[in-house]
This record gives sequence, C-alpha cells and structure tokens, in this order.
Amino acid sequence: MNDSHAPLIVRELTKAFSIATESLPILAGVNFALNEGEALAITGPSGSGKSTLLYILGVLDTPTSGEVIQFGQNPFELNASQQAEFRNQNVGFIFQDHHLMPQFSVLENVLIPTMVHQGTTNEAEDRAKHLLERVGLHDRMHHRPAQISGGERQRVAVCRALINNPRLLLADEPTGNLDRKNAESIGNLLLEINQEQSTILICVTHSRELATLFPKHLELRDGLLVSETN
Ligand code: ADP
Ligand code: MG
Repeated sequence: MNDSHAPLIVRELTKAFSIATESLPILAGVNFALNEGEALAITGPSGSGKSTLLYILGVLDTPTSGEVIQFGQNPFELNASQQAEFRNQNVGFIFQDHHLMPQFSVLENVLIPTMVHQGTTNEAEDRAKHLLERVGLHDRMHHRPAQISGGERQRVAVCRALINNPRLLLADEPTGNLDRKNAESIGNLLLEINQEQSTILICVTHSRELATLFPKHLELRDGLLVSETN
C-alpha cells in the first residue's frame, strides 16, 4: 500500500512524560497507516502506552515528536479552538468507563457532542434515536445511566461517539468493565458500525480474544507497534 495518501498516517511518533527532572519515554517511534473502513486492534501489557497512543490519535494529548496526519491535516498544527473543532467533526472516542453524565437521560447523553456548536437540532435528535434503535436501546432513551446495565451504558457511549458521524472511531478498552458476553457483543457492534459507515476503527484492548475479531492486530511493545505474535 502506498501510505502517503492514507486518511490516517502516523510517522515516527514519540511520547515522553517529564517526571521531576527525568523524561520517561513511552512511545519510541510508532509508524502505521490506515485506510477508510479498516479496523485495527492494539494490544499490549498494562502501562505499555496504549491509552497514551489513543489519546494522541484522538487529539486529547500531544506527541513529543513525529507526525500524525488525519484526513490530510496535522491536527497538532492547529490552534486550540481549531483542534476542538477538528476533534468534534472527525473523531469519536469511547472510554473504558463510559463517562456518561448521570443527571442526563440516555438520549441527552448521546446528544451532548451536538450541543457544542449549534445546539441540538431535530435532525440530531432523530439521528440519536436512530442510533439508539440501531444498538437495541429504543426503549431505554429516557432512562438515566444508573437505571441501565453496564453493557447498555457502553452501547450509549458508542452512540454518543457516533453522533457527529466521525471518520475515526477510537475505543480505549471499551469492554474492560464488561462480562464476556457483553464484551463480545460490543466488539461485534463496533466492527459492524465500522463496515456500515466506513469509519477507521482503532480499538485498544488487553483482551486477545477481542483482538482476534479484528482484521488487523498490532501489539505495543517497548514503545513500538509491532506485528502481533501468538
Ligand atoms: P496503557 O494504557 O497501555 O496501560 P498508558 O498509556 O496509560 O498505558 O500509560 C503508559 C505509561 O505512561 C505508564 O507508565 C503511565 O504511568 C505513564 N503515564 C501515562 N500518563 C501519564 C502522565 N500524564 N504523566 C506521566 N506519566 C504518564
Ligand atoms: Mg490504558
């Protein structure tokens, strides 16, 4: 594949955290590229930098060096408000712990990313309802997060990540708090959505079982992204 025009390109990406007077290297030159519709699982031991990498890809953290090009744009060359706009338009992020707002209903939680700019429109509400139906939660729209199960909460988080039609969908241990059956069902849901909407999907997981569902699987080892070996 000629990677120079891929919608997601990562070149020699490094990240080091400064702790007191020391610099702690975490990512040591990560390289990869993905096309629309591709789905990648990233595994690696705890503390290997999986979340750090995903947060950088989600423009929620900055690289120390190297290049990230998303849809022809290096988001780290933008100013803070342009970055927020870029993130809102292009990236959906699913956290291990759903991060839903407890005081809002399921439907309101899905609509949160649409409130940033224009306020919620009827069109956005229709889309949110459609997404909730898509994940089997049509009869839970007016429940609060505390009134639904863990698997259902993670489905709501998937809908919220999709509400602005992101081209890049990032999931950080999305099944880490779920039992096996719910974990498999969330994994399959993400893969189905990836196929239906041609998003780029990157899922970080410590579960090799989940990773084997993905067409591509890389492992973060010693700060580098390498081919997974069983
Ligand atoms: P993983 O998700 O693979 O478990 P992380 O990306 O969360 O790993 O963390 C990788 C390493 O970076 C860990 O050693 C962690 O302590 C360190 N780290 C993560 N975030 C920070 C931070 N903000 N400041 C300092 N060190 C951090
Ligand atoms: Mg992590």
